[in-house]
Amino acid sequence: MSEPLVEIKDLVKQFPVKSGVLQRETATVDAVDGVSFNIMKGESIGLVGESGCGKTTLGRMLVRLLEPTSGSITFEGEDVTHLSGKALKPFRKKVQIIFQDPFSSLDPRTQVGDSIAEGLRLHKVGNRKQRREQVNRMLDLVGLEPSAAGRYPHEFSGGQRQRIGLARALVLEPEFLVADEPVSALDVSVQAQVLNLLKELQQELNLTLLFIAHNLGVVEHISDRVAVMYLGRIVEFTDRDRLFANPVHPYTEALMSAIPIPDPDRPRNRVILQGDVPSPINSPPGCHFHPRCTIAQAGICDVEIPALLPVNGSEEHLAACHLRTGAHQELDAGKKE
Ligand code: SF4
Repeated sequence: MSEPLVEIKDLVKQFPVKSGVLQRETATVDAVDGVSFNIMKGESIGLVGESGCGKTTLGRMLVRLLEPTSGSITFEGEDVTHLSGKALKPFRKKVQIIFQDPFSSLDPRTQVGDSIAEGLRLHKVGNRKQRREQVNRMLDLVGLEPSAAGRYPHEFSGGQRQRIGLARALVLEPEFLVADEPVSALDVSVQAQVLNLLKELQQELNLTLLFIAHNLGVVEHISDRVAVMYLGRIVEFTDRDRLFANPVHPYTEALMSAIPIPDPDRPRNRVILQGDVPSPINSPPGCHFHPRCTIAQAGICDVEIPALLPVNGSEEHLAACHLRTGAHQELDAGKKE
């Protein structure tokens, strides 16, 4: 992991809200609000946050399924932020996405082998025989029999369909894979199998991975670094071990406390978040988290936007909190002694 494969700078995505007979624009949704970070070659980043925090929008912008409103995305040193038409095709070959719902991401009337081979056909890779061989290699890679190629999606279980989704995404041998909540629609018993498979493939193929999840427990298993997102902004970003040993942002602490501990004798300080994530149409001013934060300070947190700053001077651990990394650390009532 030496050089960045993907560089994201000040990325913003706003969606217009239209209303009335004339469908006039009456407001905007700030889905992603100035996100910057790099993803190194071969690295696996976990992107975590509650529903509506903008993580899926961010993932879709990175694979260019959504056009950013502003900011930039650089891939292998090339600015790909506004690529379109033919210029987008070589990028699409190197960057793939797998979706949350393995049931709806496969065409029910297309045989699995044809679904997997679709990318090869679109990019005119190989002849029919070579494509068939590559499909068989992919099926083997994700742990399915070659006979699966001639069957239809409804003949498979949820976990098997997500394996097919993985084979589809990997058939073009991409460099960067965005996995958008790939296990959250699966039974708990199957989730671990798909996670293990994804981790093995990431290491075997030296894939660069952005793994999106709403549950910190899921990303712990698969990520080198973790970005915690809240209402369009990254609020904490560091390597996995540091985050799990020393979460700094109050929101990360709350997510952390929600991870089940399989030991009834181990004490835990459960932090119950009040209310839902506020609407991104009218995001709270200052720190977006202040209406739900148990240590928020009036006059500071509801006014100033906290910057993502080093924790204890370490550039390897960043957090955006006035009381934990900013200029008001003496006011931190929730400080760990
Ligand atoms: Fe809580 Fe204030 Fe820190 Fe935001 S900046 S997380 S409201 S203490």
